Amino acid sequence: MKAGTVYLVGAGPGAADLLTLRAARLLGEADIVFHDALVPPEILALISGKRVAVGKRSGRFSTAQAFINKQLLDAARRYRTVVRLKGGDPMLFGRAHEEIAFLRRRRIALEIVPGVTAASAASADLQVSLTRRGTARSVAFVTPRVAAGEAPSRWIEVVLAADTAAIYMGASDAARIAAELVAAGKAPTTPVVLVQNASLPEARQIAGTLGQLGALAQALGDGPAVILLGEAYRELANEAEHALITSRSA
Ligand code: SAH
Repeated sequence: MKAGTVYLVGAGPGAADLLTLRAARLLGEADIVFHDALVPPEILALISGKRVAVGKRSGRFSTAQAFINKQLLDAARRYRTVVRLKGGDPMLFGRAHEEIAFLRRRRIALEIVPGVTAASAASADLQVSLTRRGTARSVAFVTPRVAAGEAPSRWIEVVLAADTAAIYMGASDAARIAAELVAAGKAPTTPVVLVQNASLPEARQIAGTLGQLGALAQALGDGPAVILLGEAYRELANEAEHALITSRSA
């Protein structure tokens, strides 16, 4: 029997209606869907075939990548349409490359469906452009997180060079991130915003300066959050002196 196709599909930032039409169609058509732990129930409800949680949380890989690869391969040999659903855009901090390389080596047909990444959803919630004209002409997508055995990251230099930085997988290390950036020469007065659960009804944002980042993250508490940094957020940071936490429901 001919092997099926594996679709690496972006689930977007959380809101089900931010899925692409293609993603929604594939979720309905798939014989089996392997999904991350962060994918919300409204999106999982679109799945009509089998559903397997592969339990990846931001930064914590509770199912080893090699095992996920093997499961995808076995599924492709058994089923016609296999979906691997990943949060946001699969091509940004989604470890898509491991799965792509593995499946291509085994000549499994593969298609990728992009999704709305967290920084885009956060910018939409804030109504502030990542590339605010006159202020920001470059955006860096970075993560300070480096897995064991990987080459050291140059994320600090990249953040220093970019007008706007979107820092993924960083909120739980916010104090250390701020200290490292300030030590490298970034002004502690640089505006920052943390956006948690972007696109969802429970979304929360907190703004201030780089010097306050640790305290801001602590005030926000646990949950997936992206840190946005740069002059584009100056007004939000100034407003925040009066009201530190804002949320959509407020
Ligand atoms: N591929 C995903 C990113 C995966 S890494 C994407 O394109 O968005 C996981 C990190 O993404 C989290 O640590 C957090 O920094 C960010 N993130 C994911 N969903 C988010 C959301 N709804 N709101 C804010 N940040 C989010």
